[in-house]
Amino acid sequence: MYRATCYVGRIDGFDTLPAMHVGGRSITTIFRDASSERDPAGDIHLTFDTSRHRYVRGLKRGPVTALHLHHALRRLTINPASAQRVHRIGVIFAHSYEWDTRAFGVMFDRGFKTEDDTRAPNGSYAIPREGCAVFLKAIAQHRTPPHRAAETAITTVHELGHVFNLRDNSGDTFMGKPSLGGATIPSGTGFLLAESRWLSECSRSEAVWPGGLDFRGASAQRRIHGNLQLRIDLSRDEVFAFEPFELDVKLTWPKHERRSTWISRDVDPGYSGFRIWIEDPSGAVRLWASPNHYCRPSDRIALAPGESFERDISLFGQSGGYTFRLPGTHRIWAEYDVGRRGTIRSNSVPLHVRGFHRSASALELLAVPSVARLLYYRRASLRSRALRQLEVFSNEHPKHAAAGHAAYATGRVVLAEWAATEEPGRKRRLARRAYESLRRAADHPGLGRHARKRAKDFIDNLERT
Ligand SMILES: [Zn+2]
Repeated sequence: MYRATCYVGRIDGFDTLPAMHVGGRSITTIFRDASSERDPAGDIHLTFDTSRHRYVRGLKRGPVTALHLHHALRRLTINPASAQRVHRIGVIFAHSYEWDTRAFGVMFDRGFKTEDDTRAPNGSYAIPREGCAVFLKAIAQHRTPPHRAAETAITTVHELGHVFNLRDNSGDTFMGKPSLGGATIPSGTGFLLAESRWLSECSRSEAVWPGGLDFRGASAQRRIHGNLQLRIDLSRDEVFAFEPFELDVKLTWPKHERRSTWISRDVDPGYSGFRIWIEDPSGAVRLWASPNHYCRPSDRIALAPGESFERDISLFGQSGGYTFRLPGTHRIWAEYDVGRRGTIRSNSVPLHVRGFHRSASALELLAVPSVARLLYYRRASLRSRALRQLEVFSNEHPKHAAAGHAAYATGRVVLAEWAATEEPGRKRRLARRAYESLRRAADHPGLGRHARKRAKDFIDNLERT
């Protein structure tokens, strides 16, 4: 059996505390009955206590941030920061949530940073799921007076459900989402069977009891991992849709960390754990569809403090053709799943896609399918016409931004052939040919940082042999 005192506070300066009843049943009874799957007496026994109400009164009168709520919660529960399980939890009634003023409530105490909660004081993540908040002004705006009290109590049950680590569901139940449309209809009540079973495990499972494991709710998908940093850069900021360019991806483990960390090597959109998002000029956001798809298990690499993992991704093609079809400014960003630690998000970078016009005649070559394939996959037969055409292109238009890509791609094709060749005379000729292209690529400003660095490495390798 798990017993807890739930301290109630109202931080908007008003004194009256909402009633803790839904349809004549107290919230205490609701949780006791919902957690009776194993023990008919119920596993969760909550006692509501309003005696600390004045500790937080007047703390913030208008819309509040997660930081305000963390401060208020500390004053209400006064739990030691090292607690692994707490028996004092809190419900805070406030005006509205600054991050999303339509929210009826929030389980802000998730145990990790999120987009709406990045500035909490040190230590406030130490104990996850100590409390929640309910927004009286937001409810009043969406419910007529006869339904406000019911909605407030239902929201309180919902947020407390999150404190016990229940997720949102789409049903017409306590954990369902409130409907914003019909202003007079209060949200649904009752728990699903699976939710009751979950609550019945409270005293036995750290996934359930307050202060145990981090919150696993829907917003956990947007959590920000505090340490690992993801940065992206584009080799060019203006392109035609058919022009090659790279996205440089860099994962950095900061210097000030004390220990190494492990990351999976799958920093590649072919894995579902790494995703690239594109917002087109109309504002529509889509996932970049990688032409590759991998299902094999990933290997992991260690990053010492201050170390980075880098790679590049050719972004101009995707499965089904060119990535960009609309002219105008796009925004690009990436997401990377850090295992159980959540998801990190990169900076976003702008890319201007130019409308196609006929005068770009030298560039028409790049739109030829066999040429585009070579640029994208960096694979072709030595006898292919596209290879010869691109070598000529990068030679004759050295200043063009795409020339660096052409030189790099052709250099890689010839280099692969060089590596597979035994015959000394032919090997020498191929080395010279690859060297010429890679040298042009190595300091071409139109090529991405990572690709330039790799071109230099290939040159060093050629010079050594
Ligand atoms: Zn919720």
